[in-house]
Amino acid sequence: LTNLQRIDPQVADAIGREENRQRTSLELIASENFVSEAVLEALGTVLTNKYAEGYPGRRYYGGCQFVDIAEELAIERAKELFGAEHVNVQPHSGAQANGAVYFALLKPGDTVLGMNLAHGGHLTHGSPVNISGKYYSFVPYGVSEKDEKLDYEEIERLAQEHQPKLIVAGASAYPRELDFPRLRNIADAVASKLMVDMAHIAGLVAAGVHPSPVPLADFVTTTTHKTLRGPRGGMILCKKEYGQAVDKAIFPGTQGGPLMHVIAAKAVAFKEALGEDFKVYQHQIVKNAKRLAAALADKGFRLVSGGTDNHMMLVDLRSHGITGKEAEDMLEEIGITVNKNAIPFDPEKPTVTSGIRVGTPAITTRGLDEAAMEEVAEAMALALDKHDEGAKAKAQDIVQALCRRFPLYSTF
Ligand code: PLP
Repeated sequence: LTNLQRIDPQVADAIGREENRQRTSLELIASENFVSEAVLEALGTVLTNKYAEGYPGRRYYGGCQFVDIAEELAIERAKELFGAEHVNVQPHSGAQANGAVYFALLKPGDTVLGMNLAHGGHLTHGSPVNISGKYYSFVPYGVSEKDEKLDYEEIERLAQEHQPKLIVAGASAYPRELDFPRLRNIADAVASKLMVDMAHIAGLVAAGVHPSPVPLADFVTTTTHKTLRGPRGGMILCKKEYGQAVDKAIFPGTQGGPLMHVIAAKAVAFKEALGEDFKVYQHQIVKNAKRLAAALADKGFRLVSGGTDNHMMLVDLRSHGITGKEAEDMLEEIGITVNKNAIPFDPEKPTVTSGIRVGTPAITTRGLDEAAMEEVAEAMALALDKHDEGAKAKAQDIVQALCRRFPLYSTF
């Protein structure tokens, strides 16, 4: 960062300190990951200089012959990775991808079923504070109080009652496998389209560790930066028949010029995801999550729905007399980063919550294995013990030893 340090030491300093934070703490935020050095290199290139409104071969600007190569590679690799008929790699984010599918298919006021934010859904699945909830008539569905798993009978009943034009599936905080054939049947019975937002599980899907929604859903949206381990961004996969409508909904519908440096970095990440190492990595994410969940349960924490099938878990902290907000702060003090998260039927406000969301994608990238999960659980339990004064120092030692043993970005 020599030029940056010379031109703008304040920004260089902030970046340096953030890099140090990432190296010296354990990242358990379920939606985060560490991209490869190759992806970082692609992001920091002259492709950021290029305007390329339109699509490869049909741009509104000259000089696009080389960025076209990058975008075509991203599209072809994404198609191969997920077996998709049509792919748009231009969404700037997951929210943009979701908004574009709605824009392509719906008219304002149309009825849509989406998972309740308070049960693990995403803001863009019809939350009243989001444009999705303001422009479309979303009906929320959720998990059952009995087992905290998706209540498919309720989804079916709501679909019959409200006759939606679209059913949106997918979640930001749901630790269980999604039943795509069942969702397809529910949609078909009311002639609704099905959109699956696989943002959280896209890496697991790519590696075959979670069933794929791609053959069954009309539209699949995703972010590229979570389990998929690419740059921050979004993507839409769909059946060929919707390809033109989706492309138009992104540009000129809801976006201007695509971020070509990010698209190049997406292409690099998809190449990595097509490799054998990536499959091993995704399997390890799930093995680590299961081991961490079991270790936390052994230490007396209740896990929402009793455990996990994927890369994340929700920990109910009420048994320990602490809120999600307090736990987030207590863990940050010892070098573990998580986010507070509402648990289903949470009695606390969304800014306080009774739970934390814990994920293993980032620490698995660092190389932590199942044995290390026992140490992570030990550090968490020590940090969250309000009654043991000496526990904090012990927890910090465990975290620092793990960070040294599993270094991040060891090549620079
Ligand atoms: N969809 C789901 C399921 C998510 O969890 C997220 C982000 O957390 C998004 C969409 C939005 O992605 P972005 O933050 O890139 O807009």
